[in-house]
Amino acid sequence: MREWDGRYRAGFFAGAIRQLRFVFPHCAPDAMPAGWKMTRFTDREIEEVRSRADVVEVIGAHVRLRRAGRNFVGLCPFHNEKTPSFSVNPERGFFHCFGCGAGGTVFDFMNKIEGLTFPEALQSLAQRYGIRLPERSADNRAGPTIANGDRASMLTANQVAAEFYANVLWNTSDAELARDYLKTRGITSETARAFLLGFAPPRAANVVGILQKRGLLEPALKLGLAKKDESGAAYDMFRARLMFPIRDAQGRVIAFGGRVLDNRLPKYINSAESPLYSKARALYGLAEARSTINKGDRAIVVEGYIDVIALWQAGFKETVATLGTALTIDQLRLLSRYTRNILACFDGDDAGRKASLRALEAFLQAGLLGRGVFIPQGYDPDTLMHERGAGHFDGLLQHSELLIEMFLRQQAQIAPKERAAVDDRARILASIGDKLRLIKDEFQFNLLVRKAVDLVGFTDREEAVLRRAGRRALAIGGARQSAPGRAQEVSSGTRATSSPGALVQAELGLIALALRYPDLRPELKSHLRQHVFPDQETGSVLEDICATSESSVTSEAAISSRLGEQRRGWLSGMMVGSLMDDAAKARSLMGDYLNALSEGQQRCEVAQLRQAALTANGEEAVAAAQAVIVARRRSAHRQDAR
Ligand SMILES: [Zn+2]
Repeated sequence: MREWDGRYRAGFFAGAIRQLRFVFPHCAPDAMPAGWKMTRFTDREIEEVRSRADVVEVIGAHVRLRRAGRNFVGLCPFHNEKTPSFSVNPERGFFHCFGCGAGGTVFDFMNKIEGLTFPEALQSLAQRYGIRLPERSADNRAGPTIANGDRASMLTANQVAAEFYANVLWNTSDAELARDYLKTRGITSETARAFLLGFAPPRAANVVGILQKRGLLEPALKLGLAKKDESGAAYDMFRARLMFPIRDAQGRVIAFGGRVLDNRLPKYINSAESPLYSKARALYGLAEARSTINKGDRAIVVEGYIDVIALWQAGFKETVATLGTALTIDQLRLLSRYTRNILACFDGDDAGRKASLRALEAFLQAGLLGRGVFIPQGYDPDTLMHERGAGHFDGLLQHSELLIEMFLRQQAQIAPKERAAVDDRARILASIGDKLRLIKDEFQFNLLVRKAVDLVGFTDREEAVLRRAGRRALAIGGARQSAPGRAQEVSSGTRATSSPGALVQAELGLIALALRYPDLRPELKSHLRQHVFPDQETGSVLEDICATSESSVTSEAAISSRLGEQRRGWLSGMMVGSLMDDAAKARSLMGDYLNALSEGQQRCEVAQLRQAALTANGEEAVAAAQAVIVARRRSAHRQDAR
């Protein structure tokens, strides 16, 4: 029999691992958490911002916090709750919610609450605390790369224009018609001011003159606020229009919509796409709706500016609108930062029903189950509110229906009952399969397959087809968002839970210990060499922290940019919790975590080899089987020794 020599083992093992990536995704080097991109800021710059930014003050702007021992606690802004489970630890600079698991550093908080990328969060905090950072291009995946100077001046140009338009609306005779219009639509001045409504006067060069004086003509041209005629003279893009500033989640004006007050066409014009604004990614009213969406854990999506404003005024302050496009995945992802409970309004006619099916796909792709609200024919939310009142609209909301269930029922209605109609049944099966395969959550998927089977009366064989299609999609999605410790979960067929597996817990526990107790780092560092971390990123973060004995120069940046969201949440739980408060026990805790890692490593190896033995043939299988025995013995020996 062939000897199990090292060279053979190494070559075979590498091949086996390549084959096995699918089965044990966490062993694959490319199964890294989807963290943020690393930035071009230096460690010194990041550290300066980190040390000057007061995490309690920053978070306190969004959450009412009160002191409770070492921590501050409050109601979580990321999920709906009545008793506080959201904690901030100022010494360690971490926040964590024990209710929904959200957590991380001050940069992560800015990301979650305001949708800022790491560099944007850094810049925003630097500005707030008067720290000058050298101007660099923002590494912003959400839009084209632009220099900060440019971005800032564009935002200023928009703000100046919005204030100018508002001033014209309230204080000039030019805007009399506009004020009358608001009155006839029943929009109070309080509401209009909340949305920063304005009026663009009819003359050719009003806002242009003001922007020019402030040195903002260039950015205004880029934003399409100003245009140039053939002679090169700049003129206002918006004239004689009621102005609706479109703001981002942080309330910064990123674009405008303008509505005529007479019968001119087009009725509405909007700012063109710009480095600040993409109509497929922005939502009208988000800045105004955000806190209500957070509090009530619900968002309503409509189609027009006036609809948002009318619903807001009637008390449905959680309303936002798309900007002339069908609901997009990006918009839903943006909204899902604040709630997963999203109700989309559609017209009650056939076109509206079709639109709701298109929206259903976007919802499923964004990992959400949206609800549909159907506005009776001949109305829009604005006219409905005025003619039938808020109570009627509330009734429609109460009767909203999950879009996927609605779709399944429709399919059930058109499905032929007799099994012989094979072609027609296959078509229904395929169309349901197409939708269900977009669902990434296994639990939801199973539930909806059950529902489809009940409604349509699928046979066992048809159900199996449906499940197969979905399982393929789930497997792919699962491999992409894999976490260590998933090997056991995958093989036993159970769902990933919201608490970390033992291996991840050990890895993150070591990071938390290293952050909390810098004097443990040298010892930890000497142990690290013996361990191959199931997750390379976590391992390298730990190495970086242990490389220095100084407080935590790059740890915040490393954690925010290199750990995936779920891990950041778990880590923050350890940082904010009291498990590690006892310094005397910290060392023994470290020993426990290191042991857990070795055992996990051993288990993973055995499992891999066993799998290899099953799939390989001939000599390789024999060799792998031998290796399983050796690895098991080693593992048993280690356990005896303890
Ligand atoms: Zn929470």
